[in-house]
Amino acid sequence: MFCYQCEQTAKGQGCTVLGVCGKQPEVAVLQDLLIYSLQGLALYAVEGRKVGVTDRGVNVFTCEALFATLTNVEFDPDRLVQLIRQSVEIRERLKSNVRAKGGKVDFPQGPATFTPAATRPEMAEQGEAVGLKPELAADPDVHSLRMTLLFGLKGVAAYTDHAQLLGQEDEKVYAFLHEGLAATANPDLTLNEALGLVLKCGEINLRAMELLDAGNTGRYGHPVPTRVPLGHKKGKAILVSGHDLLDMEEILKQTEGKGIYVYTHGEMLPTHGYPGLKKFPHFYGHFGTAWQNQAKEFAQFPGAILMTTNCIQKPQESYAGNLFTCGLVGWPGITHIPDRNFTPVVQKALSLPGFAEDADGRAVMTGFARNAVLQVADKVIEAVKGKHIRHFFLVGGCDGARPTRNYYSDFVEKVPQDCVVLTLACGKFRFFDKDLGTIGGLPRLLDIGQCNDAYSAIQIALALAKAFNVGVNDLPLSLILSWYEQKAVAILLSLLFLGIKNIRLGPSLPAFVSPNVLDVLVKNFNIQPITTPDEDLKAILG
Ligand code: SF4
Ligand code: SF4
Repeated sequence: MFCYQCEQTAKGQGCTVLGVCGKQPEVAVLQDLLIYSLQGLALYAVEGRKVGVTDRGVNVFTCEALFATLTNVEFDPDRLVQLIRQSVEIRERLKSNVRAKGGKVDFPQGPATFTPAATRPEMAEQGEAVGLKPELAADPDVHSLRMTLLFGLKGVAAYTDHAQLLGQEDEKVYAFLHEGLAATANPDLTLNEALGLVLKCGEINLRAMELLDAGNTGRYGHPVPTRVPLGHKKGKAILVSGHDLLDMEEILKQTEGKGIYVYTHGEMLPTHGYPGLKKFPHFYGHFGTAWQNQAKEFAQFPGAILMTTNCIQKPQESYAGNLFTCGLVGWPGITHIPDRNFTPVVQKALSLPGFAEDADGRAVMTGFARNAVLQVADKVIEAVKGKHIRHFFLVGGCDGARPTRNYYSDFVEKVPQDCVVLTLACGKFRFFDKDLGTIGGLPRLLDIGQCNDAYSAIQIALALAKAFNVGVNDLPLSLILSWYEQKAVAILLSLLFLGIKNIRLGPSLPAFVSPNVLDVLVKNFNIQPITTPDEDLKAILG
């Protein structure tokens, strides 16, 4: 196996024996084979569009299958085998349709004609043979951009899948997913073509995130500032982790009147801010912190646990029987709910003790998405003009296990009193419960939402730039980002597409970015690795 798609990759170079994430070699090579089969499917999808063949089933499947290969999503080899076979069946159907319309179907490339072997071990051997190993690449820089594109596409696919579940789709996004996938299989791809596609991936991801934002706010309303208890209520309990709002809505509906309180974990915290979800009286509070702490935190939860989407870790024996997965996330041996009928989760919650008594605990605020922040834009502008607010820091992105990630909590603690911290995604759990006080009636710490709400953060920045009549790069705003997996790659590409400069990125730079590609990023966008909070703050504020 070889995998270097996420930040925690072994030795900062690549997982070759076993994934640091717990991915077994068999799962890794089956994921490679799934990508290979999707590249074949994409060739026909691109050709089909030229002759008027577009197929929603193909589009949705492509997103689901790509999403399944994201870090910490699908660990079940049998489900990957199923997806590979399905991908080839869909490819063959598409090929017939394209042929019938007079489109080109005689592709010489391997993925276009690939047939899966009869058994899982033989398919694993096929996957091993087609895995994208950097040492085999003719040009390390083209390979680096090809991988950046592939990982960015995975992020786009995840957002697109979330959005389509909420009824928001755009053919333009699907078309690019296929164009990009087909390009990753093109042996003649040039450096300039690859660079152009990488930036286009950022542009398309912006649209995918816009669709998701429309899906979330269209169905559940714009988030409003909301106080979320960190304590608990006496009674039966369900903990929901991951990112999917539709799953959350269903759980809330299916637990109504059953004496069960619903709690959020990890990236589900911002769901408390949506009017369409917070209206449920049994949607109580937040339990725990970010994904990498789930083993410890799930073990302490006295109810059923549902993991929607990413980011799952190897379940511990102590809670494996209480854990359920849904959507594209999966772990061998863990009950998977394929159809949002959460009866088994409800029954499990009723069979478990739940919390023995009320515990009030502290509380945190969430719900400062674009609508809420822009409603007080006048106050913000006045505070900046009156020099009450000196600078904004967007400290956000993924969390992870590396100790160097303490940088982000230390950074926030050291931010001067006259500066505001905006945050989003699970990186916030390093400081989400800190009381940073207020400036002119505005909280100094504003939680915009999930990583899925990066679109909201971008809209806030664009609106402020318009209000101050300057470019985004001229705003008193600095982006201090942490990355972990492929949604973060896609977001970073969107920021580059928008021409946003001076991003500080950590805790380490992606292993798939070659020295020359990094050079291009530094020269054109002044991307910088994080150093120390003191040094970075001094460099930014002077
Ligand atoms: S997803 Fe990350 S940790 Fe898992 S195998 Fe790939 S690089 Fe390693
Ligand atoms: S921000 Fe990234 S790492 Fe964190 S839970 Fe969301 S997808 Fe996973």
